[in-house]
This record gives sequence, C-alpha cells and structure tokens, in this order.
Amino acid sequence: MSLPVFQNYIDGSFVDGAETFESLDPSTGAPWAVMPAAGAEEVDRAVRAAHRALSDPAWAGLTATQRGKLLYRLGDLIAQQAGRLAELETRDTGKIIRETRAQIGYVADYYRYYGGLADKIEGAYLPVDKVDMEVFLRREPIGVVAAIVPWNSQLFLSAVKLGPALAAGCSVVLKASEDGPAPLLEFARLVHEAGFPRGVVNVLTGFGDTCGRTLTSHPLVARVAFTGGPSTARHVVRNTAENLAYTTLELGGKSPVVVFEDADLESASNAIVAGIFAATGQSCVAGSRLFVERSVHDRLLDILASKAKAIRIGDPQDTATEMGPLATERQLQHIEAVIERSVASGARVVTGGQRPPGFRSGFYYEPTILAGVENETPCAAEELFGPVLSVIPFEGEDDAVAKANDTPFGLASGLFTRNLTRAHRMIRRIRAGVVWVNTYRAVSPIVPFGGYGLSGLGREGGSEAVLDYTRVKSVWLRTSDDPIPDPFVMR
Ligand code: NDP
Repeated sequence: MSLPVFQNYIDGSFVDGAETFESLDPSTGAPWAVMPAAGAEEVDRAVRAAHRALSDPAWAGLTATQRGKLLYRLGDLIAQQAGRLAELETRDTGKIIRETRAQIGYVADYYRYYGGLADKIEGAYLPVDKVDMEVFLRREPIGVVAAIVPWNSQLFLSAVKLGPALAAGCSVVLKASEDGPAPLLEFARLVHEAGFPRGVVNVLTGFGDTCGRTLTSHPLVARVAFTGGPSTARHVVRNTAENLAYTTLELGGKSPVVVFEDADLESASNAIVAGIFAATGQSCVAGSRLFVERSVHDRLLDILASKAKAIRIGDPQDTATEMGPLATERQLQHIEAVIERSVASGARVVTGGQRPPGFRSGFYYEPTILAGVENETPCAAEELFGPVLSVIPFEGEDDAVAKANDTPFGLASGLFTRNLTRAHRMIRRIRAGVVWVNTYRAVSPIVPFGGYGLSGLGREGGSEAVLDYTRVKSVWLRTSDDPIPDPFVMR
C-alpha cells in the first residue's frame, strides 16, 4: 500500500519536495507517510516569495482590520478542522489524542487573539521641545520572519509566532521539524483557504542543517523566531551573524516544582503528574525536578509512585490512553542512556526506568521516578524531554530556593503551599519566566511566556509580542514655511 505524500507550501502553491523522507508512526515505529525535505533552493524560493509579498498591494495594501479578519478566519478554520489536525499530530508525533484535541482549541484561540490585536498596534505622538516640529512614531512590519519550531507541539508553537507576525503585517517562512511535520503541512491548506495572499505564509519542512541553516542565515530574513534546544539555538545565533536578523529564542528547561509541608499533597501530586507525565514529558515546561520538604518527602513519593504506576500507557489514538510513546527512537535511546548514568551515580529507581513490558514495537517508556538524586545527577542536570521525575528533599525556604535555582535554565516553576506570605516570598526569589502557584501547565494567549538564562531570550504570547514583529520609524515633520535657520547647527 502506498503511503500518503505531503507537500511544502511555497508562494501560494503546494509543491512536491525535490527530495523526500519517510515519517515514522511513533506508536509502531513503522513508516506511515512521505514528507518533502526542502533544500537550499526551495528555502530561497520561499524567502523570496515572502519578501515579494511584503510590497505586494494584495498584502501591504490591506488595512490592519482586514489583516485581523484573515487571522480570525484562520482561527475559525482551525477550529472546524480540529479533528483532522489532532489526528495527524497524534499520528506523526505519538502525542495522545486527548491532548492534541484540547491543544488545537487553544491554537484557534491564539490566532483569534492576535486577529483582534491587529488594529490595536498603535504608534505615538511625541511632544518634542521644538515649536515648529510634529514628531510621531509609526510601527511598521519588521519584514520576513523565519519561524522555526521543534516537534513536540508544532501547531501550538507556530501559532505564538505566526499570530503576532501576521497581525503586525510581516510575511513568514515557517519550518516544521522533520519529526512530525504532518499537522503543519496540513495547516498550510487552511492558510490557503483563509485567503492569505500568495507568499505571505510559506510552510516547509526539511532537515535542520540544510533547511534550517539556509533559512536563518538568508539575507532577506529580518526576524528569526526560534523554539528548540539550547545547542541548536547556538547554531541559529551563529547563522544570524550573516543577516543580523532580530532573534528571539524559546529554549528548554529543567523546571523546579517546590512542595512545602503545608501543601495539599493530593492536589499537588496531580499537578506534578500533569507537569512531568502529560505529553510523555516532552514539554519545555516539564516539571522534571521535584523539591519536597523533608517532613513530607516519603509520603508524597508514595502518592506519586502509585499514581505513576496507574497511568494508562497505550495507543495514542485511543481516547482512554494517558501516556503515549516518545516521538522518536533517538529520544528513547537518549533517555535510557541518561537513566543508566544516573543509576550508576547513585539514583534509586522508585518506579519505571524501562520500556513497558508487552510493547514490542513503538517508542514507549514507563513513567519514571528517581529518588536519591542531587542537582548534579545526570537526570536532574540534563533536559531529558521524557517522563522522568527527579525527587530531591529540602529543609526550609532558603534551601528550597538555592536548590530550585541551581540550574542554568529558568523557564517554568511550580510552588505548592497554603501559606500566602511564603508564596509571595518564593515568587520573588525563584528565577524562572513562569511561576505557577498551586497549579501547573496552564497557558493562555493573553499571558507572556519565556525564560531566563539558557531557557531563552524574549517573550511570546500576550499583547506585547506583536511589538516584537514591528520596527519603529520616527517621523520629524517641520510645520514652518520659513527658511531653515543656521544649517551648520544641529537642531
Ligand atoms: P532542536 O533544537 O533539535 O530543533 C528545533 C528546530 O530547529 C527543528 O525544527 C530543527 O529541525 C531546527 N534546526 C536544527 N538544526 C538547525 C540549524 N542548524 N539551524 C536552524 N534550525 C535548525 O529541538 P528538538 O526538536 O529536539 O525539540 C526539543 C527542544 O525544544 C527542547 O530543548 C525543548 O525544551 C525545546 N522547546 C522549548 C519550548 C519553549 O517554548 N521554550 C517549547 C517546546 C520545546 P529538525 O527537527 O528538522 O532537525
């Protein structure tokens, strides 16, 4: 039986890849579709199309309100096609259908949110100290945006880039990850149907070192919006030495979850499970380091171990499944290697620590909890991007802060306590871009998101993200008809 073939979307047309590769279904490990692998020539074509679109009246001539309506329409189409998009994302990445269906609802909301913001991007009038001058600021689209996303939530992570970029009037070349690109290549059909003029949005996939490098170093790219790991981010920053594109980076994390003895342990344990085992731990905000006040350490560990053992692992397309496979075999092997090194350096496996018995194919791994860990143990030091929780005891607030902040990352954090004054003290002291108090893994288009340290540069989401896709033009307009006074003196 022949496999379905996906196409890139360049300059308003769906085109076969000059080269192709097979995408694997993570639940079976077998090829299920053929994907295009964009090379340098295709990337160049897409960037040139995006650059042309910037001065094409079909796009540049739209009012901000008209741009907003297009985004709103795209949001509506995503909501209408949510079932198909969710099914494709689950098929290509192994993410469970319950999660992909719910997440696509948010994706539609992000496009609608930025559609609403398109005509609220305001300039300014400046009261300068010169009576014959009017000075005002215009906010103009920054130019061609290269948007690059990893495999774990491609529709969602591209919405936080395309939404504000298109609201601001930019054009975009979006590179889907070579792992699990199907939902984004399908999404391109909705962009087309929504009526965006040709070249405004281009969607392609290909390998990082060819497609990604050509895109981020292209001389016509003015803005790079990247989500991925810190080591790839360093490549991207080096690539942008070529075009000096303004770059934002959303990177990984090793997020701490801190539980004090006065916390509601039952509720906290559900949030901890959500933080590390949802999406099979393949989430940038995974709460992978758990710090527990020593007096409740053993009790919480027991609760968590029994919850982890009860998690239903299985076919990601089955709505009863709670944890599906990892997205790739490479990812599975990486996790196995880190667990092995962690156990060799003294970590104790409380539960999990292996591929689940009975799963002969697919990239499955058990929900895993490791105790007897320190921040230096490999499982607590390195981002695993898998269902692995490292548990570390602490004594008092100072110790909790020191241990939680002892990481080069700073993306998210969780705090569990019923003590309001302590919560406020901890919020100030924790070094992370997000602090969830008595909850975890909540998102909204209205709220900015981003990290400290190695977790990134810049913020996505929220209204200010739109400004990051604009450039300010300062306009000086002389209102006097008199000749210009002394031309040799700066005014
Ligand atoms: P990678 O950094 O490996 O890849 C990210 C993207 O960059 C992919 O599309 C990849 O392409 C591309 N790429 C690879 N090499 C280059 C290059 N030389 N130039 C330009 N682009 C390149 O990340 P993963 O796919 O492994 O994703 C996991 C990482 O993403 C984790 O660190 C995770 O924490 C982070 N992440 C951060 C989020 C945030 O919002 N802060 C959200 C989600 C994930 P290809 O896949 O084709 O190689």
